[in-house]
Amino acid sequence: AKENGKNTLSLFEPAMQFKVEKRVELAKDLRDGLVNDEFILFCQPQMDALGKLCGGEVLIRWQHPVLGLVMPNEFIPLAEQTDLIIPIGEWVLRRTCEILCEWEQNSALKHLTLSVNVSVNQVLASNFVERVLTIIDDNGANPSLIILELTESLLAEHVEDIIFKMNELNKRGVRFSIDDFGTGYSSLNYLKRFPLTELKIDQSFVRDIPSDKNDAVITEIIITLAQKLGLRVLAEGVETEEQLQFLLDHDCQYFQGYLFGKPSPIELFAGIAEANSAK
Ligand code: C2E
Ligand code: CA
Ligand code: CA
Ligand code: CA
Repeated sequence: AKENGKNTLSLFEPAMQFKVEKRVELAKDLRDGLVNDEFILFCQPQMDALGKLCGGEVLIRWQHPVLGLVMPNEFIPLAEQTDLIIPIGEWVLRRTCEILCEWEQNSALKHLTLSVNVSVNQVLASNFVERVLTIIDDNGANPSLIILELTESLLAEHVEDIIFKMNELNKRGVRFSIDDFGTGYSSLNYLKRFPLTELKIDQSFVRDIPSDKNDAVITEIIITLAQKLGLRVLAEGVETEEQLQFLLDHDCQYFQGYLFGKPSPIELFAGIAEANSAK
């Protein structure tokens, strides 16, 4: 007879096998999705302290033929593990550049910036800088309207390589933002060495301000830190007037969250932006 430990293991084996098969299947679907052009871009508005729209964050969705609309949390982690994140990330950037070029013809839209999420593996690829510049130049997009969002945890390793690459892109006008700031543990000492434009306060801090005193203090400190380092600061996940008031009282400059708008298909986003600017 099997001993206990082994019994337990065999009990879980079928489930694990199932999981592996599902992952393999999903990875194959992702590859097909790229070929069949199944990805779409959503965009969420970003506002300034005067309540003016200043840009948006580009967020990917997957229109799966059977599963329907799939959210990024359900496929980006797998894409990151399989290197499919490279072609997916390039697709996102290419679409973003095409959209910026369309908007350039429209006086209501041409000043808007687009923030694009970039994964660690994309940046660490040896040809990252060349790939990004090629995509921008192929489309003739204005690089200074592009803000690349890197998560804080990315900046803990391969520091020299990443600083070099950021500087190369920065020379061409591409800007950088640290996403989910406060949740990773980047050294504050490194922070000033990266050519950054913006810190994005993670929504986990914004959620419970002003009632949670710890979150309120952390939020205040991130705003102050950004100011002292000469960076812009954006609060993410702003859902209530109360949160907005607290952030305004503490001199936060930019805002993103359901209070201003949920992510919507980028063509719809542009339509709303255009209609609002005409008012
Ligand atoms: P993120 O970069 O932190 O994006 C913000 C997420 O918060 C979005 O979820 C957005 O819909 C959601 N959100 C925005 N405002 C609010 C709010 O007021 N309240 C709440 N509760 N949530 C809000 P989404 O679109 O599902 O994206 C999830 C994550 O997927 C993103 O987190 C980002 O890490 C990743 N992701 C999305 N698009 C891309 C992409 O093109 N490339 C890569 N590498 N990652 C992406
Ligand atoms: Ca982001
Ligand atoms: Ca974020
Ligand atoms: Ca996040």
